[in-house]
Amino acid sequence: MAGDSVQFGSPVPVWYIGTSDYGAEHPLEGRKYARVVIIGGGGTGLSTAYHLKKLEPSLDIIVLEAEEIGNGATGRSTGFYLEGFEGGITPALARLKREYPNDPKRVKEVGAQLLRFTLDTLSDLDALIMAHNGTENEAKGSLQLATTPHFARLLEDEVLAYEGLEIDVGQKILRGNAVQSALPYSPHPLISSNGEYLLALHEDSGFGYNPIKALRFLKEEVKKLGVSIYEHTKVTKSPSEQSGKVVVKTTGGEVIADYFISATDGYTSGIIGGPLITPYKEFVFATEPLPLLFSGQNQLVWVDNGTVYFRQMANGRIVFGGGHKDNLDEALLHNGEMQSFNLENNPIQQEYIQKYFRQVFPQYRDARITHSWAGIMGAARNEGFPAVIRMVSPCGLVVGGYSGQGLALSHGLPKIAAQIAMGRQDFPNELVNFFRPN
Ligand SMILES: Cc1cc2nc3c(=O)[nH]c(=O)nc-3n(C[C@H](O)[C@H](O)[C@H](O)COP(=O)(O)OP(=O)(O)OC[C@H]3O[C@@H](n4cnc5c(N)ncnc54)[C@H](O)[C@@H]3O)c2cc1C
Repeated sequence: MAGDSVQFGSPVPVWYIGTSDYGAEHPLEGRKYARVVIIGGGGTGLSTAYHLKKLEPSLDIIVLEAEEIGNGATGRSTGFYLEGFEGGITPALARLKREYPNDPKRVKEVGAQLLRFTLDTLSDLDALIMAHNGTENEAKGSLQLATTPHFARLLEDEVLAYEGLEIDVGQKILRGNAVQSALPYSPHPLISSNGEYLLALHEDSGFGYNPIKALRFLKEEVKKLGVSIYEHTKVTKSPSEQSGKVVVKTTGGEVIADYFISATDGYTSGIIGGPLITPYKEFVFATEPLPLLFSGQNQLVWVDNGTVYFRQMANGRIVFGGGHKDNLDEALLHNGEMQSFNLENNPIQQEYIQKYFRQVFPQYRDARITHSWAGIMGAARNEGFPAVIRMVSPCGLVVGGYSGQGLALSHGLPKIAAQIAMGRQDFPNELVNFFRPN
């Protein structure tokens, strides 16, 4: 933490620190046969394989990953494991009110089903993590700090919505002095016009964890169940159908299957499934470990001013995500493909981030930014909600489109996808329909 200027480091996500050496699976060679082929080895792809195997243990499944497990949004995320959808549960309730205009009872019932579905998924992920390393998550529960009146209103609406659904996750609104005394850190005017946080929302639910580690645990589980995974195997075009079978061509070889599931989120919106999922670019960067600002908080403390969100991890590193995306587009895209986000050779982006960081954390003006990276995520054309979509073809599904809140959903939606693929449906119709665009 010395020197005149912020230094910019590796384009690799900070999550790789402290993770063990990774043994990637061999690429696909030649022709292989399977009942189901899954394209994409992020949270969605691995979870779909997991849930399919739980439904039918004898099913042979192949997962194809273009790079390595964790290369996509899952491994590049900020590691906030939260329930609900982007923007909370309030937008989902607004949609349900439009769908069932004269039936408040049904709105409440389906709203509660949706919220519980995402909470159950969080519990499943928590259990997976605990089963693999037996240690506590980095942070349990969350404290969300509002820095604008608009955001404060959204948080208040969320509390009312949870109350209406009668779901208690220990939500508590803190105001004025209660917020300030809960936090030793006085915010800079940039994040609060009067030098105070306007309001904070505490929840017992949600946790923070290293998403690369969680994904590798999931990979271990999936392998134990007998799924074949091929890494460094990129699918090169949309699966085609020949004589009732699906043919998936890759850089290495091909897979012939009865059914395919596309789990590439925003990456292949052009080649698989058409424009069903819109890609978005998001960047993140992390500092060297710094003295804790929110000390004594064993919860996920995060601040969102509508554009940039950030949190300080237990190891002291401050992780920033979001940003003025227009500024960053050029740095992120190359020949239409998403690139790692290397700030080192990019003075315009360096200046922007440096200025922003110093405004928010003047006490850390000389901090080193050790990691900067980016990823693509997808938003579904399903009024912005995640989607499980049956393709025109009877033997394929696309799953994805979680926007910025996909770590839990990418484990939950695959449960529905697995059931659809196996011709089953254990969830209520209304819940499943919510995720099926018209
Ligand atoms: C920077 C960033 C920060 C985020 N922060 C959070 C957060 O804190 N909390 C949260 O809940 N959500 C967050 N999200 C969103 C969340 O990460 C995603 O919604 C979720 O991880 C999507 O999972 P996925 O498996 O569908 O997609 P991905 O993890 O992107 O997996 C798709 C996989 O498909 C592979 N692939 C692509 N094309 C091909 C091909 N042609 N052939 C074979 N494989 C292919 C990719 O390499 C990739 O591994 C963030 C996203 C980003 C980008």
